[in-house]
Amino acid sequence: MHLINIKHPSEGASFQEAVIQGLGRDQGLYFPREFMPLPDVEGLLQENFIPRSVAVLGHLIGDEIDEPALNKMVASAFDFPLEVPALDARVSALELFHGPSLAFKDFGARFMAACLAEFHDGGPMTILTATSGDTGAAVAHAYYGQPGINVVILYPKGRITPLQEKLFCTLGGNVQTIAVESDFDTCQHLVKACFEDDELRQGLGLNSANSINIARLLAQVCYYFEAGAAVSDLSRLVLSVPSGNFGNLTAGLIARAIGLDYKRIIAATNTNDTVPRFLATGRWDPYPTVTTITNAMDVSLPNNFPRVMELGERHGLPLESMLSSMALSDAETAEAMRDLRQRGYLADPHSALAWAALDRSLLPDEEGVFLCTAHPAKFLEVLEEIHGMEWPLPPELEAVQDKQLLSETIPGEFAALRKALGH
Ligand SMILES: *Cc1c(COP(=O)(O)O)cnc(C)c1O
Repeated sequence: MHLINIKHPSEGASFQEAVIQGLGRDQGLYFPREFMPLPDVEGLLQENFIPRSVAVLGHLIGDEIDEPALNKMVASAFDFPLEVPALDARVSALELFHGPSLAFKDFGARFMAACLAEFHDGGPMTILTATSGDTGAAVAHAYYGQPGINVVILYPKGRITPLQEKLFCTLGGNVQTIAVESDFDTCQHLVKACFEDDELRQGLGLNSANSINIARLLAQVCYYFEAGAAVSDLSRLVLSVPSGNFGNLTAGLIARAIGLDYKRIIAATNTNDTVPRFLATGRWDPYPTVTTITNAMDVSLPNNFPRVMELGERHGLPLESMLSSMALSDAETAEAMRDLRQRGYLADPHSALAWAALDRSLLPDEEGVFLCTAHPAKFLEVLEEIHGMEWPLPPELEAVQDKQLLSETIPGEFAALRKALGH
């Protein structure tokens, strides 16, 4: 696979280099130089998720990973169910939240972990990251038990929910969790200081498992084919994607670029609406980020958007005709959650927002699939407020509730972190 740095197109990289480096020069994003159409999309849609995903990823990555290895990586990364319940004759939910952290980010995080394990040369390797709550669980579970890789996760003590803490601070093994007596910014600052410390960086083999890593993006292409397999007529399929950093949407466009010929795709955002305004006016004019009930999408500078533009400009996707964008308020999201519940479907706020955007624009001759990015139980407080009732914890969360926290606590100082890292 040949990739380029979007900021400096003359800078190339192999898949392995791009996965390990994360970003190119000047923080530039890596992206494939070209996309080739899949030979037999119809045939692929008949296959099961794992063999189909191996075919899709093998097509994208090429000969850098041989098929038996890729098979093992995909089977272990995607070892949880994917479900596509129909709401009615024309609309289905693509449920991506049945993995260990109950959010769709498990697909990308777990496949990236499998790639790093595959490319690992035997030297020290430590994934070091800070979390404000949600990404910690996806990263911890993705690397848990991966041979030769250690994980260190920093989080602000007392500032994440008790349930979030239980989800990633009870694993032990190769996952070290550190509660910092300070805020999230300090945690991020400490992580940055580690990467700037040559002795630590080389001694521990630091890697950031960054969310913009190309391995994460490619993994997410796979489940769009599941949406394609679920509808009766691909050419009438409309997808709706709840979007924050636009990684998920970019993956959907890559699926289109390699031949999944769905009709169109909707980028649904909350009031952090930089992209909808950009598509309407042509002006890139980010406002300060505001807090919403869809907080995983509270992003006003979506860091994957240059890849979306690249798909239009370099790869010739007809974005004007196939990509639209819509922003919804918290009140509209809450109404969508109530509407969906009346139809017998319990959705988390992010998924409900995507449904509302789809419901507003779906034409009579179209079929719709909206992406469900989080399990409703991850947002119990919002659910309780909007539906006015309490919900039991699902078994996945029930199971971690009584486990013991294994985190150590440190003050928000570099020297203390160094010591905790054994240096
Ligand atoms: C991360 C996240 C999103 C946004 O996905 P992007 O790829 O950043 O656009 C949407 N919903 C949930 C629940 C998320 O965790």
